[in-house]
Amino acid sequence: MEKFSNVNELVNTLKPVKPIYCIRPSAIKNAIKFFKEKFPGKILYAVKTNPNEYVLKNIINNGIDRFDVASIDEVKTIKKLSHKSKLFFMHPIKSRDDISEAYFSYNVRDFSLDTKDELLKILESTNNAKDLNLFVRVAVSNEHAELDLSRKFGAISGEAIGLVRLCKQHAKKLGISFHVGSQCMHKISFSKSLKEISNIIKKTKIIPDTINVGGGFPSIYPDLRPEPLENYINEIKLGLGHLKLEKLPEIICEPGRALVAESGSTIVKVNLRKKNKLYINDGTYGSLFDAGVPNFILPSKLITNGRVQSKKITAFQFYGPTCDSLDFMKGPFLLPNNVKEGDYIELGQLGAYGLTFRTKFNGFYSNTIVELNDKPIMSLYDNAGKINYLVA
Ligand SMILES: *Cc1c(COP(=O)(O)O)cnc(C)c1O
Repeated sequence: MEKFSNVNELVNTLKPVKPIYCIRPSAIKNAIKFFKEKFPGKILYAVKTNPNEYVLKNIINNGIDRFDVASIDEVKTIKKLSHKSKLFFMHPIKSRDDISEAYFSYNVRDFSLDTKDELLKILESTNNAKDLNLFVRVAVSNEHAELDLSRKFGAISGEAIGLVRLCKQHAKKLGISFHVGSQCMHKISFSKSLKEISNIIKKTKIIPDTINVGGGFPSIYPDLRPEPLENYINEIKLGLGHLKLEKLPEIICEPGRALVAESGSTIVKVNLRKKNKLYINDGTYGSLFDAGVPNFILPSKLITNGRVQSKKITAFQFYGPTCDSLDFMKGPFLLPNNVKEGDYIELGQLGAYGLTFRTKFNGFYSNTIVELNDKPIMSLYDNAGKINYLVA
């Protein structure tokens, strides 16, 4: 992979016609270091967040050896890169073929479920294996999350109690897990979810071997500024304390976004300007899906290459390159007012879910990926969410 010391060098050298995706390994390293130092348990990386091999290698090299996978292809990807790593099949709904292959060919023993039907499917697909670690995924409120997962997955309280009892009979180890929703903006979601687990423990008198507090740990965006991650971790510790168990179960978490969001960015080129609308060469069918319907506001920086930039900052909307009108990003993306056709813009915070969603719609696809060794673009923003161009 080509490496550059900063964005200007990259643009001057490559003068890219297509979008370029940039990875900053230092951001991955720092995020993992934080979780390893602070989180009171084991850390699984949620592979779907960024399954790029180079990113995965960085994650592995920084000491992560447990992975949350959702498909047999994710199982194979990780096993190819790191044979020793331990895989947790945490998608609550899996095909029989995927379960069998994961169990018999890849030694996967940890599976999640939120219905009795899925439990039976897992048992049948593994010839009633006696060495399964089964996680009951309970539904918890996703009210503080930017992306709500609670309608799709999770057993509600009454069902969860029945499932915990049933899984206890069939599992070697029993786990209970939840997910507060992605980019969770309030730490209280974690303690409330642990309270749900506490109720299940009281009602069933079954203490799980493992509690999985899931993902949802937030990253920072210009308009989404959660309190420090350390406060979330402290809230989890507090919630675990309130369980009042003599011996705490094993604790695990499955961060995706919080480990990789800062590490990725995309350099786009402006094809046309219509007043405050910029038609750029990447969009919601490329690496900018989250800027579309989910309306994530990405940090944006004009790469001026020495050209004097206007002091007036203007709010822009973006249109992507395809012919689909859904290929629209509302923003607002703040940029100097003198942006024009041919300019390059860096869009940050795309390490999470940026590479995941790319398509070849209309023939627009770019797979040029480079390494950068400067600071992630979000670090140029001040606390009010404005980019500090003087620092840049
Ligand atoms: C997507 C997902 C994660 C990661 O979520 P983030 O919000 O990116 O941290 C973790 N666990 C499960 C089961 C998931 O589906």
